[in-house]
Order: sequence, then structure tokens, then C-alpha cells
Amino acid sequence: MESRDYLFKVLVIGNGHVGKTSLVHRYVNEKFNKNYKITVGVDFALKVLPWSDTQTVRLQLWDIAGQERFASMTRIYYREASGCIIMFDVTDACSFRGVRNWKDDLDAKATPPGGGPLPCILLANKSDLSPWELTQESIEEFSKANGFIGWMETSVKENKNINESINFLVEKMMMTM
Ligand code: GDP
Ligand code: MG
Repeated sequence: MESRDYLFKVLVIGNGHVGKTSLVHRYVNEKFNKNYKITVGVDFALKVLPWSDTQTVRLQLWDIAGQERFASMTRIYYREASGCIIMFDVTDACSFRGVRNWKDDLDAKATPPGGGPLPCILLANKSDLSPWELTQESIEEFSKANGFIGWMETSVKENKNINESINFLVEKMMMTM
């Protein structure tokens, strides 16, 4: 059987200090290449993910830096994205409120090739910390009401649900191919 490569551009957005850069570093590990600083305010890193005997997934993770306070990005950033990760910090309700702005910005500017919604996962990060400023019920309700493919509690620090959540997103992106 012939092997196939899939290249996905994945956006990593959310307020400042929620753990976006830590996530990309953790996930991509030593492959993170600081030299790929292409635009002011955006880093990107590549992760090669053997998906099956015949499929290889290449994930290009786009991490914003220093532009978080605007809760808005240029259309160029969103161009040709295949998926999105929106993160917040469970100990910071303000970062959770920010998620709505990010999702609105995404939905207004991202134009997935198939025309459907861009698969977007919500990550409730820093789950190792307490107290949480949000209940799991409120996150669940918000995730459903705002068109996320789902949400997961993660801890980049403790490496909890990092591979699991990104694999889940990849599954959804593969379904849109
Ligand atoms: P960014 O601004 O969204 O890119 O956030 P950073 O990745 O720079 O992380 C901000 C701070 O949160 C850093 O001090 C990280 O070490 C810390 N951090 C990130 N993820 C976690 C986590 O899961 N748990 C804890 N306790 N701290 C975290
Ligand atoms: Mg950062």
C-alpha cells in the first residue's frame, strides 16, 4: 500500500500565561526549533507523528507570542489552518472568559478548505493546581455551546492529556480530509 503524508497547520491560541509555549515545547520536545521565528509574534514548530502503517501526520504548531492581550490575530495567521487548540488556565477565570473572544476571532477569520467549521479543542490547563476557578460542568456546557469538538483538562507540567488531546484533534482533522 502506498504511504501518505498529511500536513496540518494547527493554531495554539489563548490568553497570555496559560501555557501555550510550554505545551508546544512539551509536545514537540527537542524538535522545537527556535530558528523558525518567521514573523514577529509567531513561533512555529513541527511534530512528525507516525499515524498508521501507511499514514504520517506532520503537525505545524503555530504559537503566538506577545500578542495575547489583543485577543485577535491577523487573517494571515489563520490562513490554511486545519485545526486549533484554545487554552485557558483553570486557576484564572479571566483566561476562561478570554476563550470566547478567541473562538469568535477564529470563527470570523478561519476559512477551512471544506467550508465546515475548523476543528477546535478546548484545553483546561494547569489542572495540577488548585483551587480551580471553574467547575467541570461549566466548562463542559461552554464547550458544547461554542462549537468545540470537546475539551480536556491538561497539565503541561505533569504531562497529563497532552498526547491524548492532540491525538483527538488529529482524528477530527483526518476526518475532514
Ligand atoms: P503562554 O504565555 O501561554 O505561552 O504560557 P507559558 O507556556 O509561557 O507558561 C506560563 C507559565 O505557566 C510558565 O511559568 C509555565 O511554566 C507555567 N505552566 C504552563 N503549564 C503549566 C501547567 O500545566 N501547570 C503549572 N503548574 N504551570 C504551568
Ligand atoms: Mg508563549
